[in-house]
Amino acid sequence: MKKIEHIGIAVRDLNSSNELFRALFGKAHYKIEAVDSENVNTSFFKVGPNKIELLEATSPSSPIAKFIEKRGEGIHHIAFEVKDILKEMKRLESEGFRLLNEKPKRGADNKLVCFIHPKSANGVLIELCQSIQDADL
Ligand code: ZN
Repeated sequence: MKKIEHIGIAVRDLNSSNELFRALFGKAHYKIEAVDSENVNTSFFKVGPNKIELLEATSPSSPIAKFIEKRGEGIHHIAFEVKDILKEMKRLESEGFRLLNEKPKRGADNKLVCFIHPKSANGVLIELCQSIQDADL
């Protein structure tokens, strides 16, 4: 894994949270993106070299709606950038981690993503991501 790519935070209402985090960081989000495959709206903030992703459910079946129902708003996942997502998925599987999707899927921010089940990572939902321009699929 190369580095933490971003931290994902589950929020109930993206508009009011964009306002809250704008006040916190001293600057506004730089983009909003809907990810239909996950039923979420996302927004992104840059804080120095780091990125924060806010996620709002767009349907009750969204993983974000389920997360908030169970645990409330808060840190939802940590995303790590990888060079070769397929290779990394194979490696983690062989190390005994449970992957939430068999194949990489299209996430926000022009990335291929795969999630690791929090039950196999001490309760932390981990996202692997690889920029699509780096992907050879
Ligand atoms: Zn993410």
